[in-house]
Parts: sequence; structure tokens; C-alpha cells
Amino acid sequence: MKIVNSKHFFHLCFLSFLFFTCKASQNQSSSSSIISRFQEYLQINTAHPNPRYYEAADFILSQAESLSLESQTIEFVENKPLVLLKWPGKDPKLPAVLLSSHTDVVPVESHKWTHPPFAAHIDSDGNIYARGSQDMKSVGMQYLEAIRKLKDSGFEPTRTIYLSYVPDEEIGGRDGAEKLVESDVFQKMNVAFVLDEGMPSADDKYRAYYADRSPMWLVIKATGAPGHGARLYDNTAMENLLKSIESIRRFRASEFDMLKAGLKTTGEVISVNLVFLKSGTQTPAGFVMNLQPSEAEAGIDIRVPPTVDQDAFERRIAEEWAPASRNMTYEFKEKFSTLDIFGKPAVTIADSSNPWWVLLEEAVLNAGGKLEKPDIFRGATDASFFRQRGFPAVGFSPIANTPGLAHDHNEFLNQQEYLKGIEIYAAIIKAFASYAEQTESKASKYEL
Ligand SMILES: [Zn+2]
Repeated sequence: MKIVNSKHFFHLCFLSFLFFTCKASQNQSSSSSIISRFQEYLQINTAHPNPRYYEAADFILSQAESLSLESQTIEFVENKPLVLLKWPGKDPKLPAVLLSSHTDVVPVESHKWTHPPFAAHIDSDGNIYARGSQDMKSVGMQYLEAIRKLKDSGFEPTRTIYLSYVPDEEIGGRDGAEKLVESDVFQKMNVAFVLDEGMPSADDKYRAYYADRSPMWLVIKATGAPGHGARLYDNTAMENLLKSIESIRRFRASEFDMLKAGLKTTGEVISVNLVFLKSGTQTPAGFVMNLQPSEAEAGIDIRVPPTVDQDAFERRIAEEWAPASRNMTYEFKEKFSTLDIFGKPAVTIADSSNPWWVLLEEAVLNAGGKLEKPDIFRGATDASFFRQRGFPAVGFSPIANTPGLAHDHNEFLNQQEYLKGIEIYAAIIKAFASYAEQTESKASKYEL
């Protein structure tokens, strides 16, 4: 064995150091490592009612560390960690951009899935099957991968970028995004614009959302005198409830007709769906057949777009759907205002007058994506909490050519679509982080 002199030895060491670090960094950025990191996040079971929030938080923190991002974990509510990451901009005076995502997912019926929902199995077509692959662990990881790409290219942000990984979106967000937006921490972040989740599209155009419909979860209750099942008499609870249901059904049909005729989008109509009917007198042997019950109840999931006058709508409920004259009462299990704290409709302007919208649109197009005209999200997302406090927020998930399977069995995302989404986010984040304008005409209302 030949002994190398010390100088040679140093050179050898240095070269092998370079080789291995370079190789390690290449490996980190290879498509297979990008996909396996996504699988790792998907494999953490964060389904309600027992989401493994700490595992998800640890995973995100480890990713942040590998990217040298600043991080903090906040528990606004015990056992519900929220991870906040920061990529500091060169000009700390510029307000920041927040990339929002939630770590929780909805429950699964495992036996109805082709592949186990937390295995993140990849089939021969490259489809990754997992709960959260569309809603929205994809987005949460894509933000980070986009930042990895930008860092690898030597890009440095001018404006600060924050990333939030919040709990509980799927159960209403009260202990997650709402706590964040109400906090001192959020005040100090000085956020000018929020990007949150959207929805997949089946065609080749991405969707972006400038508002959410507000849930009004209504329970109407009728009471009436009980009586023999063979007797005909007025004002039975059932009869009173059915009159309301008939009126609700007609309203639903008229909204649905507008949707079917293409006069309104799914986000623009008021959707009204019966979700439960409850009545009857039960014994261990089953329902009593010869007794008309004294109470009957119905639950209705109503979603209204921000253009709806909620007070007028509630008057309609009180007069037509639950009139006291028919012995009826009503209550809301959830009622989310369509207005922000300034009394204006909680919408984000999505046209050329909003520079953030322009930056988003241009970045998507420049990265080779197509964008459908902006719409109202049919459900509610965490973006509502930001808009309600006057912060502009757009919902966007870069998932095209994919059936929307959020909350459904066999939720999946193709790995090529996932990788393309990272390119889209890299373009968006670069555009936002480079945007150095402090003031512009019309810009003040966007808190630039
Ligand atoms: Zn979601």
C-alpha cells in the first residue's frame, strides 16, 4: 500500500468532500427524492378524529431545517401544534407573503380504497394514492420543494415569505388558521397577501378562487300535537315540517336550474341540501307506526356566495322555512358571515387592479400553466379567516388534468402533475418574493 504525502491526502479529501456534498445535493433535488419526501408526509396519518399532529409538525420542521428556514411551533390550543416557517427577505420593511396550508385530512373508509390510504402507493401510471394527496399535503410540500429549487438556483427573496402548517382546517379551522390570524404573532408578520388551497380541475386549466361561500348550517324544528296514526288533523309536526321542506326543495331546484343552464358557477349559486331528517317515536322494536310524533327536525347545509345579503336570507328562513305561525323554530349550527370586519363582502379582487393577482396570473402562465377565470370556492377554506380580517387571499392548488377526489375514496395525484406544480409554485414564489414595490396607484388598499 502506497503512502500518500500529506498535501496529496488533503487534496483527495477535499475532492471527495466536494463530490459527496455535490452528490448529496443532487440527490436531494432529484425527482425520486422529491416524490419520496411527499410520500413520507402522506404516510403520517393526520386524519380526524385523532390526527398525528406532532409527527406532521416534526416532519415539516425537519424539512425546514434541511432548507435552512427559520421555524417556530406554536400551540394556540394544546396538542394542536401549528408550524410557522420564515424565509427572510432582504428588505424586511416590505410586507410579507404567507403560503398557507393545513396538516390535517378528513377520515377514510380504508376498506373502500384500492390501495391503503396512508401507504402513498404509486401505481404503474405514476398515480400516488393517499388521503391528503390533493387536499392538501401536496400543496404544503410543493411550497417547500419550490423553495428548495429557488435556493438551489441561488435566488434570494427581497420580500419575506412565510409558510404556515395549521391544524384543524377540516373541522372548521377555529383552533388553527383563525387562532393564527387573531394572534400577535400574525400582527408582527406584517402579511400583505395570502395564498391558500384551491381545488383540482379535470381539464388542463388551473382554478383560482377569490372568495369562499359561507356556510349557514341550519336546523329547523317543527312541533305539533301528537295523535293517533289513523286520525287526520291540522298542524302535526310532520305536516308542518314537510311544508317547509317543499318550499326549500323549490328554492334548491331554482338555484340548481341556474347552475345546469350555465348561468351561474358552483361558487355563485346558493346551494341548499338536506343532510338529515329526524322524527318518529322509537322503541327497541322499531318505530311506532300508529303514532304521529310531536316533533320533527331537518338539518340543511346551506352555502351562500359573498354577494348574498345574509340578513335578507335569514328573514326568508324565518318567514318561509321556519315560520312561528306553523310552530316552527330554527337555529344555526354554524353561520359564517359573508362580510369582513369592515362590513364589506369578504372577497379578494382578482383583476388587473390587484398587483398580487397580476403577479400570480403571470407567473402561472410563464411557468407553462393555464388559468381559468377566477371563481368563488364552493366550500369554506382557511382563506376565509384572512379575508374576513381584510387580508387579500387567493385559493390555488396547481392540480390540473385530475379528477377532484378530495374527501372521496382513492384520492390520488399523479407524480408528474405534482412535479409540474412545484415549477408553478417556484415561479409564483419567485414573483412574489421579488416584488419590491412599496406604493403604487390603487396599491395602498392591498397593503403593499
Ligand atoms: Zn383542504
